[in-house]
Amino acid sequence: MKLLKSEEKRKCEMGNCKNRASYVIRLERMGIKSVLFVCEHCLRDLYKLIGEEIVPKSIETLRLRGAQTTKGA
Ligand SMILES: [Zn+2]
Repeated sequence: MKLLKSEEKRKCEMGNCKNRASYVIRLERMGIKSVLFVCEHCLRDLYKLIGEEIVPKSIETLRLRGAQTTKGA
């Protein structure tokens, strides 16, 4: 899966959004509909949603380290 800047003048495809899509999500191995046009607003919404569900590994490690140092102090 790739996130690219959209060069085409397309509308955002997220729900009823009418913004101009500035990004395109390219889905590989998805058959007929393999691209999804999104505007910056929807991309940020999506990112927030994903961020609430999936914690990046680096942040998890940082939290663990932080907990250990406070325990020692
Ligand atoms: Zn949008």
